[in-house]
Amino acid sequence: MKRLIPLILLLSACCRPADEVHLSDYVSTLVGTQSDWTLSTGNTYPAIALPWGMNFWTPVTAEREDDGWAYQYDKHRITGFKQTHQPSPWINDYGAFSILPFTGGNASGSWFSHKSEVARPYYYSVYLADYDIRVEITPTERAAVMRITFPESDDADIKVNPFKGGVVSFENEWVNGYTMQNHGGVPEGFRNYFVIKSSEPLGGPFKTTRGQVVTLYIASSFISSEQAYRNLGEVLDRPFDEVKATAQARWDEVLGRIRVSGGTNEQMRTFYSCLYRSTLFPRKFYEIGPDGKPIHYSPYDGKVHDGYLYTDTGFWDTFRALFPLLNLVYPDVNAEIQSGLANIARENDFLPEWASPGHRDCMIGNNSASVIADAALQGITSREDLEVLYKALVHGTEHVHPSVSSSGRKGHEYYNSLGYIPYDVGVNENVARTLEYAYDDWCIAQIASLLDRPQEEIDLYLKRSGNWRNVFDPSARLMRGRRADGRFQEPFSPYKWGGDFTEGNAWHYTWSVFHDIPGLVDAMGGQESFEQMLDSVFKVPPIYDDSYYGYRIHEITEMQVADMGNYAHGNQPSQHMLYLYNWTAHPEKGSVYIREVMDRLYSAAPDGYCGDEDNGQTSAWYVFSALGFYPVCPGSGQYAIGTPLFPKAEVSLPGGKTLTITAKGNGPIYNDVRLNGENIQDNLINITNYKKNSTLSFGIL
Ligand code: CA
Repeated sequence: MKRLIPLILLLSACCRPADEVHLSDYVSTLVGTQSDWTLSTGNTYPAIALPWGMNFWTPVTAEREDDGWAYQYDKHRITGFKQTHQPSPWINDYGAFSILPFTGGNASGSWFSHKSEVARPYYYSVYLADYDIRVEITPTERAAVMRITFPESDDADIKVNPFKGGVVSFENEWVNGYTMQNHGGVPEGFRNYFVIKSSEPLGGPFKTTRGQVVTLYIASSFISSEQAYRNLGEVLDRPFDEVKATAQARWDEVLGRIRVSGGTNEQMRTFYSCLYRSTLFPRKFYEIGPDGKPIHYSPYDGKVHDGYLYTDTGFWDTFRALFPLLNLVYPDVNAEIQSGLANIARENDFLPEWASPGHRDCMIGNNSASVIADAALQGITSREDLEVLYKALVHGTEHVHPSVSSSGRKGHEYYNSLGYIPYDVGVNENVARTLEYAYDDWCIAQIASLLDRPQEEIDLYLKRSGNWRNVFDPSARLMRGRRADGRFQEPFSPYKWGGDFTEGNAWHYTWSVFHDIPGLVDAMGGQESFEQMLDSVFKVPPIYDDSYYGYRIHEITEMQVADMGNYAHGNQPSQHMLYLYNWTAHPEKGSVYIREVMDRLYSAAPDGYCGDEDNGQTSAWYVFSALGFYPVCPGSGQYAIGTPLFPKAEVSLPGGKTLTITAKGNGPIYNDVRLNGENIQDNLINITNYKKNSTLSFGIL
């Protein structure tokens, strides 16, 4: 009898009308937009896009076309609508151009209200009060449709701004042009060619009757004007509402790969808003050529090549949870991304660490190794591509990009000879680099094993993966800067941000031994000591030393205002830390904190993040955590367990399989966790178990 009950529940669940709920309507694209450069609650903009779409659109509230904060929730005026490729305000945009319909000869923008705004992934609508105009936008992957409803006017007009250096020309219903706008990461001659087909002739004021609709079909290409016309085929002469319905269906399908139930409406909104942010980046940078096959303009050599390419992500952020999420739920997409990485390795000597669209000088580490290892473990990378990627990774361990020092390994000569990067040799953020290179070397060893490389080669990288020990100070039980002569740095403050670390301090970076947590436990003097050090992060006050920067960077402020001591969930180095309580005698301490972070630091409101969202990473933390587990060590195939937020979640796996997660009780402390009925060992679950129908059940004893 016991077995019958869930079966009946299952039958009643599957008989609901399929169109009853649109998961895409739980999403608010405004989450994280109430940000500025001093305090980030996400530093996002309301991206109107398809999942991983080549072009996004956003309303613009900024007065300057090169302002990285294009849309800020607290602003009152809209100054345009921009085709954007921006991953982050700190990186800024490229290939952007904007459109503004207006009346009265004034193209400076209009007041608007969030009360007259609809912000969904597949549809955006806003009323421009000063013009009495409503603008609606709906996207495809490389094109969009804009529906503009005018008042009665003798001087209706539509401005097309190709940005600095760009060109635009009007010929009846057609608008052609290109934009060269960028902030680096592109070769000479970079252009984004755009084409617009209007339902009315443009190029000067025209008369409209009240309620008259002008429809713009807009597309672009990084390859050529001819390709832009080909991309226009995605929308040309299709009814607006049909494009909108198709876009919504695509979002419902992608969001529907994870179906959570039993939570509050607010939890549903937060979860699906986070899943939306997790499925935007990295974006497609390839286009479909005349023979229907993928082709791309390469920002690495300025030429057009066959095959896939994705861009706009920083691996320092996204290796942690975003790429493991792609591997679990969207491996078909990550297979294209990996193929694109292999193409990059063929087009230049270095894998990107921060790409937008080409190499950008930002952050540290060599975490492409993690991104490649985690995918290779899932078997989604072809052998041929993996050989190419491995060669590029090995090259990166001994070289640094000649002009972009965050690609390859800055300080490799010290790291490879001394086993760490000293703080007194002119390489900044040396401890953080050492820690991440050590983990990256462990990832390279995993790939070397998969490729059956010679044992001595595997052993070299495994040996280097232990280099984290060289910057661990047993007396402080913390990671600490070290001189070339071996002495630890004096004076030492675990509260000092930057310097030896990257956007964090010793309290944050000490845990960056993703691949050898048991080793770190031993180094700290055993489980009790390890637990005490974890506890201390929350017990010490949120004091800081910002002398390295000379001012309080926004990540410091975000740590302070969160009221969790020195725990800094608003930035990436801390984000796996709560799960390390699984390596202590009291994993429930971690569960309480994990639930607190989900409940208090995330929401579906415009201030819904507690720091930069960072291209899906901070959102993917929430998605995993709400499911009840987290990838502490990408490349291992293992997840550490946590505390599921919803009574039930179903994850669609490749091949029509399902992972069903159930939670009995209100939590947050679960201590009867079973995978397919078996008690799990060491609070770790292995991803390889997920290739079949599986159940993961959590219960409170
Ligand atoms: Ca960050």
